[in-house]
Amino acid sequence: MIIKSAKDEIQNYLVDASNTKGFCEAVYIPENVDEVIEVLKEANSKKLSVTVSGNRTGLTGACVPKGGIVLSTEKLNRFLDLDIKEKSLLLEPGILLSDLKNEVESKDLFYPPDPTELNCFIGGTIATNASGARTFKYGPTRNYVEELEIVLPEGELIHLKRSENIADGFNLTLTTDSYKKIELTLPDYEMPKTKNASGYYCKRNMDAVDLFIGSEGTLGVITKIGLKLLFKPKNIISCVVFFNSENDALNFLTEVRDESYRTRSENRINSIDATALEFFDHNALEFLLADYPNIPGSAQAAIWFEQEYEGEEDLYLELWLSLINKHNGNEEDVWIALDEKEKRSLKQFRHAISENVNEYISRNNFRKLGTDVAVPDEKFITFYYSTKKLVESEQIDYVTYGHFGNSHIHLNMLPKTDEEFEKGQKLYKQICLSAIRSGGTFSAEHGVGKNKTDLLIEMYGMENIDKMKALKKKLDPNYILGVGNIFKST
Ligand SMILES: Cc1cc2nc3c(=O)[nH]c(=O)nc-3n(C[C@H](O)[C@H](O)[C@H](O)COP(=O)(O)OP(=O)(O)OC[C@H]3O[C@@H](n4cnc5c(N)ncnc54)[C@H](O)[C@@H]3O)c2cc1C
Repeated sequence: MIIKSAKDEIQNYLVDASNTKGFCEAVYIPENVDEVIEVLKEANSKKLSVTVSGNRTGLTGACVPKGGIVLSTEKLNRFLDLDIKEKSLLLEPGILLSDLKNEVESKDLFYPPDPTELNCFIGGTIATNASGARTFKYGPTRNYVEELEIVLPEGELIHLKRSENIADGFNLTLTTDSYKKIELTLPDYEMPKTKNASGYYCKRNMDAVDLFIGSEGTLGVITKIGLKLLFKPKNIISCVVFFNSENDALNFLTEVRDESYRTRSENRINSIDATALEFFDHNALEFLLADYPNIPGSAQAAIWFEQEYEGEEDLYLELWLSLINKHNGNEEDVWIALDEKEKRSLKQFRHAISENVNEYISRNNFRKLGTDVAVPDEKFITFYYSTKKLVESEQIDYVTYGHFGNSHIHLNMLPKTDEEFEKGQKLYKQICLSAIRSGGTFSAEHGVGKNKTDLLIEMYGMENIDKMKALKKKLDPNYILGVGNIFKST
């Protein structure tokens, strides 16, 4: 096992992509599960706090230590078994998502979850239940996790397979590999019906695997993962459409969203069925202009969509073009990807906006002020316009983009001064509270981490936070793992 403690060797482990900063005594880099057990047993005996680190692309400070030690999963990076016939993959948590995708796609298989940043580890995506553009059709990471090997905070090993351990109502019993039984009472709060990554996933009669997905490094260290794969889609249309009116763009989006739901529920063929449905507002397009000078000057908004299809491409293009026309899309300037390279470049266009915002934030030494809110579909448009109006009333620069197909908004404020940052923090909270009050969530995909614990209290109330803490305490009696994530330590 590698152990690092020199300042210059550990500094990369002390910050994540939100520019949240921390400190620690040392970084432990185990190379196998036995070494993970060793680290946790020792830390537990000394009551030393342990923060699990993936590739630190997180946006909530969750992997950033506030003391104690870091356990990095970077050397747990082996592919263990790719079963093409069964369409399943067994692997360790430190594999890069981009490598995972290349590996399975080379065998004509497909792993749908695609957080915009592919430079993350598969373990990190499971610990945050990451989502992405394709969540619109395929759902979040949770839907593809079939089994997990986990080292619990006291160093006990546990293996969980989907469908093998189901809670009895809100009572869940875990049995470790050494036959220790842990009786858990699951919190009985109601989770929002939108896309959601806030707090423990708890439901009556739930599967034990689901408790650990999205638990943000607080309940155990994931050391092995079994994933379900699909067949790789045969063909994909990928396209960016520009609109001279934001209203037109949003009407287009709403019609595509509803039409896609209908296609799926009625099992229609030869019909609109978007895989991804992503939005960029005028400010986001302006922010991208230096990198993409071919963005039309008249554009007030843009939508990037993908659709998988079998059969005649022309038939689908016609369907889409007629919808684009109906909503006054800028037909002259539609960017249609014709080959793999062009498809990657449209994906990169979407990635660039997130990346450029994060880069602006770190360059100006602020912490990210980007919303991750989602609301029920029927409230989305009103929510979107009122959110924008609120930020504009304070005259803070911002860009908006995100997974609008899922009624999920990343509005990122771009403060220029400390005063604007402070104002922005207040607005950020107001927007999150408004999403919660609308029946949605303040975090649809990034998680709570260390930076949003107060919002989780607003969402579920202190009584339910105490239930989450009690659950954690059963698995982590000395409170050593992921301290400060999801809720404050005491
Ligand atoms: C430009 C950009 C765009 C992004 N877009 C999206 C997006 O569209 N959708 C989305 O969901 N996210 C997005 N993210 C956020 C980020 O990529 C995800 O949260 C990712 O899943 C984190 O993976 P990681 O390996 O970097 O984990 P880290 O950031 O290192 O850690 C995240 C959390 O997981 C825990 N953890 C990591 N590994 C393990 C393990 N093996 N066992 C237990 N706990 C573990 C950590 O303790 C921490 O709590 C984006 C980030 C960037 C920088």
